[in-house]
Amino acid sequence: MLARNLRNEENKMKKIGLYLHFPFCEQKCRYCDFSSWAGKEKQMDAYLDALFQELDSHKGDNQDVEISSIFMGGGTPTLFHGELLVKTLEKCKEYFDVLEDAEISIECNPGTVDKEKLSTLLEGGFNRLSLGLQAWQDHHLDFLGRIHRHKEFEDSVKWALEAGFTNISADLIFGIPGQTVEEWQESIEKATATGINHISAYSLKVEEDTVLYHWKAQGRFQEMDDEQERGLYHSGVHLLEERGFKQYEISNFAQAGYESRHNLNYWKNGEYIGFGCGAHSYYKSLRRANVQSVEEYIQRINVGHSVIASQEEIDNETEVFETLMLAFRLNEGINKQGFASRFGFSLTDKYANHIEELKKQGLVVEDEHSIRPTALGFDFENRIALTFLD
Ligand code: SF4
Repeated sequence: MLARNLRNEENKMKKIGLYLHFPFCEQKCRYCDFSSWAGKEKQMDAYLDALFQELDSHKGDNQDVEISSIFMGGGTPTLFHGELLVKTLEKCKEYFDVLEDAEISIECNPGTVDKEKLSTLLEGGFNRLSLGLQAWQDHHLDFLGRIHRHKEFEDSVKWALEAGFTNISADLIFGIPGQTVEEWQESIEKATATGINHISAYSLKVEEDTVLYHWKAQGRFQEMDDEQERGLYHSGVHLLEERGFKQYEISNFAQAGYESRHNLNYWKNGEYIGFGCGAHSYYKSLRRANVQSVEEYIQRINVGHSVIASQEEIDNETEVFETLMLAFRLNEGINKQGFASRFGFSLTDKYANHIEELKKQGLVVEDEHSIRPTALGFDFENRIALTFLD
């Protein structure tokens, strides 16, 4: 109880993130199971109105927090006009105390931005772009159901740099059926040569109810086997390091100083508030999820009902577990002193046996200040998490 009270004291003017969800896409990618839909453009205006109302409903509630990062994701936020996205950012600044140097990111799909829109975004206060490339080879982009070619990605980065953006990230996917090591390395080489500063690289997962899920069931392709997939991952980590993109999280790589502040807050189990359909929040010991459906979200807002679909109180024990589980996704692992200040007890005293066992298995290393995952630990992150769940 004492630890929790102390933490409540520390919570004054704590720094949190904001996430705003834009669920519209020009076309649904074949692998995507996110809250996003194609063909609902007619609802975009009503959705934005509803989003502003949801933001407005938080007015005055948040005097004790400062916003250190804002992330507008989706979906494809850049399907909206640049001016409307800037207006959305201004609403955030109206209702929350956004720090001068806050990281303000927006997800863009190549093919939905031009130089003018990118200039509008930069001038309007956005300072980081996250572009979905996924693969350099157009036949892989076709298979994934992307709307663009690598040329549109190159153009988008060029325009972004010309507009004055200095912090640009690209998403890549590996483990695409038939993808060779050479193709994967080409994707990394070409993407990093465009002038970006950050890469997120995720393994292709065939999720339920996606087009790829049905194609797989029909035998139209075979998933890459684990050994090959791990081979691509390791070769990617190595090449990215060579190109100056240091791994700081299992799937994320950045030039020095360009780590994503918004995502680091998630991985450090920090607090954030999400707005929009399907958005999640973790704030004041509550995890919440908004309703998924665009229609239901708009309708509930318009009649003054709550848009929260589920809510769970996070007790101390769960918070400890989640903090550890997330920390071992990070290269820096967990800081012992930080953990003790947050929870009021020593990690190494309470979990001495667990940590010894993980060290023996070669999954973590320990020094005076921290406990960090090894390269092998990144391959077996679930095993580390399960150890602490015990
Ligand atoms: S653009 Fe992104 S959110 Fe939209 S369908 Fe493709 S992967 Fe999903």
